[in-house]
Formats: sequence, C-alpha cells, structure tokens
Amino acid sequence: MKYLFTKRSGGFSTGAYDSLNLALHVGDNPEDVESNREALAKKIGTKNLVFMEQIHKDNIEIITNKNPTKVMTCDGMITNLKDVALCVMVADCIPVLFYDSLQRVIAVAHAGRNGVYLKIANQVIEEMIADFDSNAENIKVFIGPSIKSCCYEVKNDVTKGFENYLHVEGGKIYLDIVQKCKDDIQTIGIIKENIDISAICTSCDKDYFSYRRDGVTGRFCGAIRL
Ligand SMILES: [Zn+2]
Repeated sequence: MKYLFTKRSGGFSTGAYDSLNLALHVGDNPEDVESNREALAKKIGTKNLVFMEQIHKDNIEIITNKNPTKVMTCDGMITNLKDVALCVMVADCIPVLFYDSLQRVIAVAHAGRNGVYLKIANQVIEEMIADFDSNAENIKVFIGPSIKSCCYEVKNDVTKGFENYLHVEGGKIYLDIVQKCKDDIQTIGIIKENIDISAICTSCDKDYFSYRRDGVTGRFCGAIRL
C-alpha cells in the first residue's frame, strides 16, 4: 500500500493554480491539469488514477474497473483492485484515506462540513465491513491536511449537529470538523492508534490550496493504492 497527500508545489499550473492543481473543474488550463495528474501518477506509482465528481454528499461507489469510462458523481470510493489509485481532491475539506491490510481494501472520502455531518467516513467503513468483510479494528484511517478550528469560522445556521465541536472567539464561531470526524469513526470501532491526523491547517499553511483563504484556487489531493 502506498498513500500520499500532495502540496501546492511540483506542478505545471500558473497563476491562482500555481502549481500542482489536480482539479479540472476550477477554471485551470486542462492541459496543465493533465500534466499535473501525470506527475501524481509517477509519484503514486500507477497510471490508473480514479477521481470523483465531488458534490458534498454521501454517495459511495465501489470501483471495479481500473479505467472507469466516466467520472462518477460521489464523495467516497472503495476498491480491492491493484494498480489503481483512488484520489480525493480538496482545498480545506478533509481528505480521508482508509486501508484494511488484512482484506486488502482501500477507500477514500471527501469530508467537508456536510460530509462530516452526513458521517461519510463512517458510511465508507460500514460499506467496507458489509461488502469486503473488513473488521473495523483492522482499518487504518489517514486524515489529511484540512482547515482546522483555528480558521474555520462558521455562521450560526450551520452549527446543528456540531454543538460539541464549536468554540467562540472574539464573537466569532469556529468549528472543528476534524475532531468530529475522529470521534465518529471511533464510535463504530476504529481504534485510536489506527487514526493518523495531519496537524496541518490548509488555511494557515500556504504550501496547500485553501478555498477559504484564496477563493479561486486549485485542489491538492489525497491518493491511495494497494
Ligand atoms: Zn488555521
């Protein structure tokens, strides 16, 4: 198994997308994005990169073809195929990667505020258990760079369900979706020692794309392969 989280640097895109932007839907030059995806393919060690059309919902697809003919609209993917890398694009949302070394299964999830609210990470794990005979205690979870509670200011109307994950500072409300995601996956049996959380806040760290900080910008990615 190999996994990685990319940074901004090391790509071909220019301007707001400088430089390793992996997303085709953000207004960047498609040829540059393709070059960037080739660079990612080299890094992860397979040409078969599978991306999603992510819509902040909780649809999860099982990947049974190394070269899907069309991009699937979903926010989670699971596979036991070899020589294929599952990719999740982000710029503040949480890229979550999953690995069951016993059943040889990998998965990814795109978990922004709504994805965490919908417990998409738990749904991925439950599907790994139901469809691939995984045991929660054998699943490792890698929670990549994302916006942290230092920077994730929210308005009152989106705090429902997150009551235990808010703090108020200077009259502003800040949300900790990473902690909620971590707590949620532990409720269904993921062991604390098997959860790896990046300390990086994408809004604080300029080595990463941040939608909150920059508006028009690229997407970095989490990628995992068997
Ligand atoms: Zn921050």
